[in-house]
Amino acid sequence: MKVGFIGLGNMGAPMADNLAKAGHDVTGFDLQAPCPEGVAKAENATDAAKGQDVVITMLPNGAILRSVANEIIPAMDKGAVLLDCSTVDVESARAVAEQADAAGVMTVDAPVSGGVGGASGGTLTFMAGGSEEAFAKVNPLFDVMGQKAVHCGDSGAGQSAKICNNMILGVTMIATCEAFALADKLGLDRQKMFDVVSTSSGYSWTMNAYCPAPGVGPTSPADNDYQPGFAAELMLKDLRLSQQAAEAVDADTPMGHSATDLYAQFVEQEGGKGMDFSAMLPRFEKRHRG
Ligand code: NAD
Repeated sequence: MKVGFIGLGNMGAPMADNLAKAGHDVTGFDLQAPCPEGVAKAENATDAAKGQDVVITMLPNGAILRSVANEIIPAMDKGAVLLDCSTVDVESARAVAEQADAAGVMTVDAPVSGGVGGASGGTLTFMAGGSEEAFAKVNPLFDVMGQKAVHCGDSGAGQSAKICNNMILGVTMIATCEAFALADKLGLDRQKMFDVVSTSSGYSWTMNAYCPAPGVGPTSPADNDYQPGFAAELMLKDLRLSQQAAEAVDADTPMGHSATDLYAQFVEQEGGKGMDFSAMLPRFEKRHRG
């Protein structure tokens, strides 16, 4: 397929690289980042989007997505697909879909789970929103960049699934970390805590697969001085998107709200920026009640 790829950062570059290696004809553009080998460099976003079957965007946020979409939609062929893999607010995903639809361009919003490792290894999970036709057209690209793609519904459904998943992830990580810190103070050995919880009703992905305690469970960022992994500020971004969405549809999300406040405090006031989101554990270790 002829593919345009806009946003070649930590995630976009390895995704574009995998598509080129699989034999797709990929043209890339980024304001700053270089093009991976095998990806032709365009001078601007419009040039990257012209004449392509699919244009993929992997950008920092919804405002940037909207401005790039504004620029490229008029240049895209009718019947082409704009596939946004960034994590953005549901409203921006839907606004871009509407704008594209009016121009005869199809869209899929397909944020990913799996991080930089998943992007390099081609093992991302895609959560997709858009029409059956658009999803079918981009599905072969999902096969190259990922191991699984779930078609969640119409435009915005991919972003909705992503922020709900990550709200659970943020809340669960905090619960796991505060339980470890409590266990410490109760004199419970961390390995024993893991052995019990990972096989009991408190088990979760954060405990079993990504344990925040160093030296316990499978290797995780905790074993590497809490270098990310999944950075605390990215968790904060996703939690804020969940609260923005909850506000828009009048959903009561008290745990998501608390998790957002806690990650904001951690990232903005307590030096958590640049650390893995599991570094909530050493944060709790140092603290006292009240
Ligand atoms: P990044 O900051 O490394 O990459 C974004 C790239 O977009 C940068 O290279 C930047 O120069 C480029 N860019 C910004 N504005 C542009 C414009 N107008 N035109 C062209 N290029 C532009 O970020 P990332 O880690 O690659 O994340 C990308 C998206 O994926 C984000 O929405 C993020 O939330 C999401 N995501 C990231 C991870 C992760 O672990 N990094 C995991 C899942 C989802």
